[in-house]
Amino acid sequence: MKSALSRYKRIVVKIGSSLLVDPSDGLKTDWLASLSQDIAGLASDGAEILVVSSGAIAMGRKILDLPTRPLKLEESQAAAAIGQIALARAYSDILGQHRIKIGQILLTLGDTEDRRRYLNARNTISTMLKWQTVPIINENDTVATSEIRYGDNDRLAARVASMMSADLLVLLSDIDGLYSAPPKERPDARFIKQVDVITPEIEAMAGSAGSELSRGGMVTKIEAAKIATEAGTTMVITTGLQKNPLAALEKSGRATWFNPQANARTARKKWIAGQFEVAGSLSVDHGATTALGRGKSLLPAGVTHVEGKFQRGDTVAIIDVHGHILGRGLVTLDAEDAVKIIGRKSDEIAKILGFERRSEIIHRDDMVLVAASIQDNQQEV
Ligand code: GLU
Repeated sequence: MKSALSRYKRIVVKIGSSLLVDPSDGLKTDWLASLSQDIAGLASDGAEILVVSSGAIAMGRKILDLPTRPLKLEESQAAAAIGQIALARAYSDILGQHRIKIGQILLTLGDTEDRRRYLNARNTISTMLKWQTVPIINENDTVATSEIRYGDNDRLAARVASMMSADLLVLLSDIDGLYSAPPKERPDARFIKQVDVITPEIEAMAGSAGSELSRGGMVTKIEAAKIATEAGTTMVITTGLQKNPLAALEKSGRATWFNPQANARTARKKWIAGQFEVAGSLSVDHGATTALGRGKSLLPAGVTHVEGKFQRGDTVAIIDVHGHILGRGLVTLDAEDAVKIIGRKSDEIAKILGFERRSEIIHRDDMVLVAASIQDNQQEV
């Protein structure tokens, strides 16, 4: 029987340090094996899985037998370097038992903020998914200084989910979801099953929490929920304290669900529309204009002229045969490569450029059109 979670096609699973690493016993191998069973089940149902795993610092601490006092920044970073390699090996071995191949991705804040690095990270992770491998993602703790750190993997996971247009983000935590007040202090605290909109009232429920190993707490989870739901990703907080936590989520349903916001796609497009300057332009033919009007991506074959010195990831204008602006979008190539492939069919492009690349020059998700210009063109054709 297919699992209910596998109706989500692309799932990011975030694992907190305390679930994975016991301060005195080290890696919780049995627990990881049980999670791997769940992941393998979802993967065989056809879902793409990405794992955002904490635990590098905790593992490093254990391996080095460091004292339990709080670590200095450089000590945490050095501990992460030692712990991360052990963590990656554990994932590789345990998921390997299910014939799942993994790869390690270490990100810093800049990789999801800067457009070019963002597009690059997205392409790399997309390729890994295409190859049916599971990216094991963590913050690059060893190089991230305090100004450029996420510091918590809740928000990192939400950024990854939004960058990869995941349908679902599962935060496996040491608590089963959101309560109206801290449940340990307030026995009358209500359990919140579903959140449609993150209001100030919901934010206030988060209070402040967090333990020595995981900086997380509910505050960063609510922050993560904002990032994810605005990007159109459903987010769920559930407990990972028992084995097979994803199967348990399906069975018990005990969790807090955050629904994606209806206008998520438009939020991304608003960001593109809101860029002050364009770095160049692509002129397109009638055929491309019609295709864009039907919601298609822009392919090199429909581009007749390239203007400007833009780089991959920049915003460029799209111009029709009359010189009118049809819209704008994030371009997937540097100008000098774009010039070489315009007017060419997708299958010729790899040969011309000397490397394989995605076929579109602007993806439809990265494009905003001026409705009136598109209509004018449609009337004309
Ligand atoms: N990146 C940190 C680690 O792997 C964890 C951050 C967090 O707990 O959210 O140890």
